[in-house]
Amino acid sequence: MLKKTVRDLSESELKGKRALVRADFNVPLDDDCSITDDMRIRAALPTLRYLLERGARPVILSHLGRPDGKPVASLSLQPVAHRLQQLLGSTVSFVETTDTDEAMKCSASIGDGEVLLLENTRFLGGEESNDPRLSRSLASLGDVFVNDAFGTAHRAHASTAGVSEFLRPAVAGLLMEREIDYLGRVLATPETPFIAILGGAKISGKIDVIERLLSRVDAMLIGGAMACTFFRAMGLETGKSLVEEDRVDMARQLLGQAGTRIILPHDVLVAPSLDNAGVARVVPRNSIPHEQAMFDIGPATAESYSRAIASGRTVFWNGPMGVFETPAFAKGTGAIAAAMAAATARGTITIVGGGDSAAAVAEAGLVERMSHVSTGGGASLEFLEGKKLPGVEALDDRPAA
Ligand code: ADP
Ligand code: MG
Repeated sequence: MLKKTVRDLSESELKGKRALVRADFNVPLDDDCSITDDMRIRAALPTLRYLLERGARPVILSHLGRPDGKPVASLSLQPVAHRLQQLLGSTVSFVETTDTDEAMKCSASIGDGEVLLLENTRFLGGEESNDPRLSRSLASLGDVFVNDAFGTAHRAHASTAGVSEFLRPAVAGLLMEREIDYLGRVLATPETPFIAILGGAKISGKIDVIERLLSRVDAMLIGGAMACTFFRAMGLETGKSLVEEDRVDMARQLLGQAGTRIILPHDVLVAPSLDNAGVARVVPRNSIPHEQAMFDIGPATAESYSRAIASGRTVFWNGPMGVFETPAFAKGTGAIAAAMAAATARGTITIVGGGDSAAAVAEAGLVERMSHVSTGGGASLEFLEGKKLPGVEALDDRPAA
C-alpha cells in the first residue's frame, strides 16, 4: 500500500482525537426502510474498533442512495445508526444534519468509547460537485481523516476526496487497505495458475478489465449473457439471448488475441422467456433454438469451470453465470460460488468483485468462505481497469522505505 493507513497513525494522533471516518453505508433498504443486507456495515467494524481501542472518537460520514443534493426522508442514515450500534456494541449517536453548527457541537462532545454518525452526505448540494466550501466545513468535524469507503472511492466527492485537502493526516481505513491489497494482487503478481471468471449481462463496461486480465490469466472462464456476444462472434446462433450487437467485433478481436485462454460454455440452459423457467432445457452451445434465450450455463460447463477453479492458486470472479435472481437460472452461479469456497479451504486466494456477484455469494451464505468479497462494485472494476481512485489518491503518501 503506497498510502498511509490508520496503522501509521501514532498514539497521540488518535487518543482523545476526533477521527472523521468516511464509511460506505450505502446499504440496500426495503420499503419500510429496513436494512436487507448489512455487509457494508459489518465491513466497517474493524476500522471503528481499531479507532475506539486507541481512544479516538469516530465521527462517521456516509452517503445512502441517490437523494441528489436534498433531504429525502426514506434515505436517512437513522436505520444504519441503529444497526451499527447493535453490531459495534458501543453507543452510536445520530445527528439529523451533517454540515451545521449542531453537527459540529455534537462532534466536539462525543465521549470516550462513543461514535457519532451524521446524516447522509448526499443530502448536501456540494457533496457530488466536490464543493471546496463543503469540504472545508466537513474537515472541521475531525482532527484526522480516515477514508474507509472503498465502494465510493472512484468518486471525487467532498466527503471522499475534497475533505482531505483541508484535513491532515488523511489515511486509509482497514477495509480500504484490505480491498486494495486483495484487488491489487490480481493486477500485480497473482500466484499462478490464475483463473478469472467473468459473467454478467454485458461486455461493454468490462472490456478494459477483460483486456487487463487477459494478459495475466492462465484461463478466463466466461458465463452470463456475455458468453452470447462471444458465441455470435464465433458465428453461432444465439436466438433471443441478450447479445450486444455493437460488441461482436470486439469479442472476435478478444478471441483472436486470447488464443485458448478464453473459455466459453459448452452447454447452456435455454428457455423461451424468463417466466417460462418450467420448460428450460440444456442444449449444446451450437444448438440454441432460434426462438429461445440462454439464461444460465449448463451443468457440464458448471462442472468443468469448477474443475478449473480447483486447479487455480488465485481465482477472481466478477459477474453471475446466469439470471441468478430467478432460482431456475441460479445453478451455474451457485456452482461457481461453491467451487470457490472449496478452493479457499485448500489455500487458494479467492476474490469476488462486483455488486451482483457479491450479492450472489451472500445469498449462498459463502461470504466468510472467500478470501475477499469486495464491497465496491463500480470501484472494484475501475481499480482493475488500472484507473486511479480519487478517494485513494487524495490520501497521504507513505514515505518511501
Ligand atoms: P456485477 O454486478 O457482479 O458486476 P453485472 O452487473 O455485470 O454483475 O451482471 C449482473 C446481471 O447480469 C444480473 O442482473 C443477471 O441477471 C444478468 N445476467 C446474467 N446472465 C444473464 C443472461 N444469460 N441473460 C440475461 N441477463 C443475464
Ligand atoms: Mg451489477
